[in-house]
Amino acid sequence: MFGLMQDRPLLVSSLIEYAASIHGDTEVVSRLADGIHRSSWRTIHTRAKQLAKALLALGVKPGDRVATLAWNSHRHLELYYAVSGIGAVLHTVNPRLFPEQLTYIINHAEDSLLLLDAMFLPLVSKLRPHLSTVKQFVLLADEAATTPAREQLPGLLSYETLVAGQDAEFVWPVFDENTAASLCYTSGTTGNPKGVLYSHRSTLLHALASCMKDILALSSRECVLLIVPMFHANGWGVPYSAAMAGAKLVFPGAALDGASVCELLRGEGCTLSMGVPTVWLGMLAHLEKHPEARPTQLRRGLIGGSAAARSLIARLESELSMEVIHLWGMTEMSPVGTGALRPRRWEAMTSDQQLDLKVKQGRVMWGVEMKIVDDNGRELPHDGKAFGLVKVRGPWIAKSYFKAEGGTIIDEDGFFSTGDVATIDSEGFMQITDRAKDVIKSGGEWISSIDLENAALAHPAVQEAAVIGIAHPTWQERPLLLAQLKPGLTATRDELMEVLTQKVAKWWLPDEILFVSELPHTATGKLNKLKLRELYRDHKLPT
Ligand code: AMP
Repeated sequence: MFGLMQDRPLLVSSLIEYAASIHGDTEVVSRLADGIHRSSWRTIHTRAKQLAKALLALGVKPGDRVATLAWNSHRHLELYYAVSGIGAVLHTVNPRLFPEQLTYIINHAEDSLLLLDAMFLPLVSKLRPHLSTVKQFVLLADEAATTPAREQLPGLLSYETLVAGQDAEFVWPVFDENTAASLCYTSGTTGNPKGVLYSHRSTLLHALASCMKDILALSSRECVLLIVPMFHANGWGVPYSAAMAGAKLVFPGAALDGASVCELLRGEGCTLSMGVPTVWLGMLAHLEKHPEARPTQLRRGLIGGSAAARSLIARLESELSMEVIHLWGMTEMSPVGTGALRPRRWEAMTSDQQLDLKVKQGRVMWGVEMKIVDDNGRELPHDGKAFGLVKVRGPWIAKSYFKAEGGTIIDEDGFFSTGDVATIDSEGFMQITDRAKDVIKSGGEWISSIDLENAALAHPAVQEAAVIGIAHPTWQERPLLLAQLKPGLTATRDELMEVLTQKVAKWWLPDEILFVSELPHTATGKLNKLKLRELYRDHKLPT
């Protein structure tokens, strides 16, 4: 039709082009294993173009999956732009997963190239014989560091050599905005991890909406410390939204402890940061002993990934004079869905009344439609009392998993079931009351209770096992394993732990094992986790 607007595709490459041309001098700072590294949006763009050419020269084609096993750094950011910019798919792999899951994910994604941080060399050399599609491995380091690493991983390429081997004469290709840009796997309670495939269009719309004041409130005046790993739901989209807003971006690398985080926040003059509750708790613990490390310019803290406790929000706001914004979302939602920035009317409330509302996960941002439904799919009222399954719909929400794994995941109206159970109040503030499934959230990562239970069953004396999450001051939740032994057989805690060590990642190991004479079941014969959680609600794990 005549008179309509221009039809320009929404592509990831437009973000880095914009950031480089308008905010070119704005810094991008990374903590690497050997110290602080300084770059800028202009340099990130130049190197992303060199890298794009190097990837093409290595044979990477549009649609190919390129995997990273890496912490947050300028190199990871360059990969975000180079890989998606040429129409390939950036697959950010979570290195905290157990080796068998990593192998499954990399093979399932059919990654052709794997780029890794040096600290993952031992892990990758162990995985290598099982990786059926990866043709080349690249160390995110220079030649000097890569040479000795070839003893562990023969044929290893150096990232810096690849970048240096190309000039920056490159024009980003233009293609359909519905092309896949990146891939993240999410681990549920049952079955294998499933891939969520983001498009260029969904990525840009999510970045645009999440810059809004009630969500991330990003702008060229902000300096962001991105604590959320770039392998966890695209680092909440910040590698994209920070470029769109022209914000200074700071990456903590692998050092997520309180001391390192405070040092970066203070040293780089960060004005906002985002992460799971565990990192904020770590920061407060450090500041208790080292008040001199207080970040002086930090004004806002975004917390999500698991529920931010009232006490955490209260402490951060009073001790650091900052504003805390509670966010909620999930990998399938790109990931941000809601934010709890206070509306004007809260100003008339006492701080206690405000806290009651700040612990809620917030209101949906534009672009996300949300409803709560009962067991029969009937919509429930927004009265702050009725709770039901949260369903969402929108242009940055998954409509199926990669390779259609798990079948249809949206209902006939296009709504996706989040698996979270919540209330919504009359102002639209949503509050999570439970996880429909029983996954244990430890430091922002998931531990599958079912996998742990199955691992425990490998001990011949175990009749039945149940794992529930117990509140933990640092990690939010840690697993408690309850084991019922077969009549006449015995097992010790250490024996059971030994069996589990063979089967699961170290950080999945339960903090405590209790032997019980009986486990409660529901009418349909399933373990009654609800009952167990009630019984052990006040249980204190050993420290
Ligand atoms: P992931 O896909 O790993 O990011 O996990 C998403 C899940 O984390 C959600 O479905 C929620 O169960 C949980 N989650 C995320 N943010 C919050 C929050 N602010 N409060 C409570 N749970 C959250």
